[in-house]
Amino acid sequence: SSFVMSAIRDASERKRFEKALQEKNQELANANRAKDNFLAGMSHELRTPLNAIIGFTGTLLMKLPGPLNDEQHKQLRTVQSSARHLLALINDLLDVSKIEAGKVQLAFEAVDCQAVVDEVAAALRPQALGKGLAFDVHAPDAPVVLHTDRRALSQIVFNLAGNAIKFTEQGHVSLTLRVLPGTGPQRAEIRVDDTGIGIPPADHDKLFAAFSRVNAARPNAPDGTGLGLHLSQKLAELLGGKIVFTSESGKGSSFSLLLGGG
Ligand code: ADP
Repeated sequence: SSFVMSAIRDASERKRFEKALQEKNQELANANRAKDNFLAGMSHELRTPLNAIIGFTGTLLMKLPGPLNDEQHKQLRTVQSSARHLLALINDLLDVSKIEAGKVQLAFEAVDCQAVVDEVAAALRPQALGKGLAFDVHAPDAPVVLHTDRRALSQIVFNLAGNAIKFTEQGHVSLTLRVLPGTGPQRAEIRVDDTGIGIPPADHDKLFAAFSRVNAARPNAPDGTGLGLHLSQKLAELLGGKIVFTSESGKGSSFSLLLGGG
């Protein structure tokens, strides 16, 4: 009977434990939701004054040559670029909190992937050419149409290609769209190759973590938020795909968005 007693005690203890665990989980879920709502609200509130700062510094800067001397002009440009950086950070944070809260609205439809790649390329080409980089797009003759969310797809490709340009000082950046071989639903790859600084092997694991800026210690590190890849990978997952990469320090990187098949 002592066996029975201890079995009963075990059972009631387990019940108590399960109940406590459930309560803790509920508390955690509530705290998490509060955090997401807070972040979303804050991001929104912060953007309005920031846009005013960016707008007015822009106006002041345009009054060239105006009453500003070179030093003042330089300082004003710093104000502007800091504000822009902050805005980018806030926008990324808002996106991350939306994704984590499951609040991203995706609209799946038939999307012409080449059109998306071409749009991103058109938007980023001036930046690449401005740095003296060769910039090209490769795509098959036949259209590649996937059932996906156009905005998310565009944002991912924009982030990957933007990074490639940012972290490349000479050589080229290229965007390649291709259909992956295999039976079943069509699968596609959008790859961004660069001949940039690359990523040391020791940093490969942390690349997709939030706020990871593995080259930040380098002098002249281009500024960024360290959220772009984190966000892109989350979006890729929402699209049923993923981002993979290969990279060699000093040689360049290759980031692939793999989509479809699901
Ligand atoms: P960031 O806003 O800093 O670009 P990301 O999340 O997009 O943030 O990227 C994280 C880090 O990964 C970057 O700071 C950079 O160190 C590294 N990285 C990303 N893409 C490349 C690339 N194409 N070449 C070299 N390093 C890269």
